Amino acid sequence: MTLTEQDIRDRTQAVLDEVGTEAEEVPFRSALWDAGLAFVQYPEGKGGLGVSPSLQGEVEATIRDSGRFFHPLATNTIGIGMGLPTVLTYGSEEHHEKHLKRIFTGEDWWCQMFSEPSHGSDVAGLSSRAERDGDEWVVNGQKVWTSVAHMSRYGMLLVRTDPDAPKHKGLSYFILDMQSPGVEIRPLYQITGDAEFNEVFFTDVRIPHTNLLGDVGDGWRVATTTLMNERVALGGSTQPRGSGTIATLVDLWEKEGATMPPAEQAIMRDRVAQLWIEAEVGRLTTLRARANSTIGNPGPEGSVGKLASAELNQRIWNAVTDLQGPSGMMHEIGYPRSRNEGLGGFGSLSKSFLRSQANTIEGGTSDIMRNILGERVLCLPGEPRVDKTVPWKDIPT
Ligand SMILES: Cc1cc2nc3c(=O)[nH]c(=O)nc-3n(C[C@H](O)[C@H](O)[C@H](O)COP(=O)(O)OP(=O)(O)OC[C@H]3O[C@@H](n4cnc5c(N)ncnc54)[C@H](O)[C@@H]3O)c2cc1C
Repeated sequence: MTLTEQDIRDRTQAVLDEVGTEAEEVPFRSALWDAGLAFVQYPEGKGGLGVSPSLQGEVEATIRDSGRFFHPLATNTIGIGMGLPTVLTYGSEEHHEKHLKRIFTGEDWWCQMFSEPSHGSDVAGLSSRAERDGDEWVVNGQKVWTSVAHMSRYGMLLVRTDPDAPKHKGLSYFILDMQSPGVEIRPLYQITGDAEFNEVFFTDVRIPHTNLLGDVGDGWRVATTTLMNERVALGGSTQPRGSGTIATLVDLWEKEGATMPPAEQAIMRDRVAQLWIEAEVGRLTTLRARANSTIGNPGPEGSVGKLASAELNQRIWNAVTDLQGPSGMMHEIGYPRSRNEGLGGFGSLSKSFLRSQANTIEGGTSDIMRNILGERVLCLPGEPRVDKTVPWKDIPT
């Protein structure tokens, strides 16, 4: 199909006219999905129109111009950013029918269950087990740092199905119904006082074989798709210039800067300007990357955006905290604890500063991003990997 930017704007306007700019999020997203405007590069009938992803910006701009806030990842971030492309790439027609639209509308939240207490960066070494029993698999083990597990209907579950195979080859990937008997979810409180993530325990949890994505033993390939998409999802914003975190810094600078002693003011002005430039470079790079993105399986270049935006976000929140002077060190009185209703831990400036410390850990640490970029993009010599061909059960733990 050949569609122009104006065609996409007209189709988006038609959705806005049909459901109204004040529509609830679920019916609004449902109408976008049906019109092929969820992700325009997706196939027709599956949330897209099969056209260039560069046209997606027209959808978002048209919605923004109507005065409605819209960001595709504003709800069910993990489901939409990671679950959707994984199910689209590896799922059967039944999986597509059952899950894709409900993920996009946010009716079913999804979580990612990869990390374990002793396996985060080295996730391929994980030890939660699934054993086949007829048409079902029986899962035992534990996951950790599972964001929004307590709000999720489904989980992307990576488990070991063949301990005799080398670590990358003995994994399988399942869709887990989080309401299955034997799934226990316990909150983990972060430095912010929020519990947006969890420990998840599995005791004889039964999963139908039909919930497998990819083949038995092919879990690492499927997981790589999820991880690559995670990096793209975390890798920067395509929202308008100067919005988001950098806007918080600029607003604060406009309020506080005038009262600073001249020498301090000059230094802080340079710092704010430099961060603004870096945020804009990041935004433009993300827009360029999106225009070239492929459906389902982005390449290792996604790690550039993840690395750069995580480190920039921390520098911006450091500047916000410095700008506040000593009061920047104060956290909310009583250090309140809460169970999050989503990702982020935002609210106060101090909470956002504390939450930003996780940016260089979640979705793969900055060290791991540098390894990926060094090895897979720059083709530098790889790290020594002595356990790559050893049966997983023989690797000392
Ligand atoms: C806020 C938050 C949300 C998260 N949400 C999820 C989630 O929803 N689902 C999920 O599965 N996981 C989640 N995680 C877990 C996250 O993916 C892991 O924390 C991360 O991959 C690092 O693993 P680790 O904590 O085990 O640290 P480790 O792997 O033990 O790393 C410790 C240190 O060693 C460094 N290191 C490790 N290996 C290497 C290496 N080969 N080369 C150089 N340096 C290395 C690391 O960079 C780090 O500094 C979340 C984490 C956070 C902080």
